[in-house]
Amino acid sequence: MQFSVGDIVMMKKNHPCGGNTWEILRTGMDFRIKCTTCGHLVMISRVKFEKGVKKIISSNTSNPSNPDVTDVSDLKK
Ligand SMILES: [Zn+2]
Repeated sequence: MQFSVGDIVMMKKNHPCGGNTWEILRTGMDFRIKCTTCGHLVMISRVKFEKGVKKIISSNTSNPSNPDVTDVSDLKK
């Protein structure tokens, strides 16, 4: 699974606040994610993060490596 900054993901386990969707703020060896329900920030290792993810809800289409980028910028015109 490919993750990039700005992606919204659903985790298998709910956050204590009741939410289970997170926004990716940083990728790498460690991921920094933000609970989209309460805004809580968490640092988590890539391995733990990948194990905990259920699915990607929305992918960040502004990622330069994403081949759909040209289509998106066309829509914004
Ligand atoms: Zn939360």
